[in-house]
Amino acid sequence: MILRAKYVMPSSHEVFENGAVRIVNDEIMDVGEFPRVAQGQGEPVHDLGDIALLPGFINAHTHLELGDLAGKIPPPASLTDWIRRIIAVRPEDADAIHATVAAGAEASLRAGTTTLVDITATGHSLAPLMASQIRKRVHFETLGFDSLRSEQSLQVLRSRLDSAGRDDLTTIGVSPHAPYSTSETLYRECVRIQAEQGLPMCSHVAETVEEEEFVRDGSGPFADLLRSLGVDLDDWAPKGVTPVQYLHKLGFFESSPLLVHGNYIRDDDIPILRDLNVTVVYCPRSHAYFGHSDHPFEKLFALGVNIALGTDSLASSPSLSMLDEMRFIVDRHPHVSPERVLTLAMLNGAKTMKVRARIGGLRSGWKADIVGVRIPPGASRVPERILSDEATVILTMIDGKVCYQAAD
Ligand SMILES: [Zn+2]
Repeated sequence: MILRAKYVMPSSHEVFENGAVRIVNDEIMDVGEFPRVAQGQGEPVHDLGDIALLPGFINAHTHLELGDLAGKIPPPASLTDWIRRIIAVRPEDADAIHATVAAGAEASLRAGTTTLVDITATGHSLAPLMASQIRKRVHFETLGFDSLRSEQSLQVLRSRLDSAGRDDLTTIGVSPHAPYSTSETLYRECVRIQAEQGLPMCSHVAETVEEEEFVRDGSGPFADLLRSLGVDLDDWAPKGVTPVQYLHKLGFFESSPLLVHGNYIRDDDIPILRDLNVTVVYCPRSHAYFGHSDHPFEKLFALGVNIALGTDSLASSPSLSMLDEMRFIVDRHPHVSPERVLTLAMLNGAKTMKVRARIGGLRSGWKADIVGVRIPPGASRVPERILSDEATVILTMIDGKVCYQAAD
């Protein structure tokens, strides 16, 4: 099968006019200008017309099971306030979560997302995600701060890992939630599980200054929150370092995990993240919702840290659209080029999925995970037009299969 389009972009920095992608089964066999790609093949050609074909978007951070909370929690004064609200309203019913997660996966496909990295606290997200054609990595979340809760949480995690299904589009991971909610012992157990089973890891780290205060000094709003939840902090010894440095000492970064948020990564944290190939996941609109200081993504990028993009959950973000996230960056940071913004959602996201995943670019021998975007006419560069408000996703292909196609 050959897909033909006015523009084909193997990466954010390359554009073929009158381009084509040749696909056999789940793989890309050739990419380039249409006459050369089509010559002598005799395969069916699907001419998609005046659109751009590019690598499918990779949403590196979601919690689809929180989808029903869309618009229900106004921006809070602090993360601890928000957590109190979430604890009160978070969904637990399996059937309801299945429906919410299925809807989130569908919305993601319509938005051109071909790979999702999802976190599930309940474990209920896995089944509906496996039923979806989207490529996904599902992280089972674990948390607990005192020894009893840590032990219980670890048992639940191990049993979920033992019973979790796998298939070609599904990878299982683990997510110790955050340094203020997950004990040192539990983080160490996650490092052990990673070493035993080779599972990818992710964690919310350096999200707030209050988290840093808690890790450094053992004080502040997170200490108050934990005590109010009945957690005994007698065993918690302040670490005197940043959250990144604390987790580094536990060996958590050795497996090159995802570090979600990283809003308050400090200068002396950066060499650790760069040298251990940790990917920082920036969630632009969720970051703005919480009113954080400017995110250091440009500095991290300049210093060699891999930055990917995520939408976060609908509890703190208005949609699951990666195009919307990218437009938001273009709007707030106009000096960052559209090419670089697209890279965050394509190749940089793919780097988190390990090299063998062969996604994030349109290359011979890579997976046929492709998005088709109808872009407005104009003289500006194609990447700029892809990120304009008028652009719309009309095709999402994963593993060579059409998973979404807009009606004409
Ligand atoms: Zn999150």
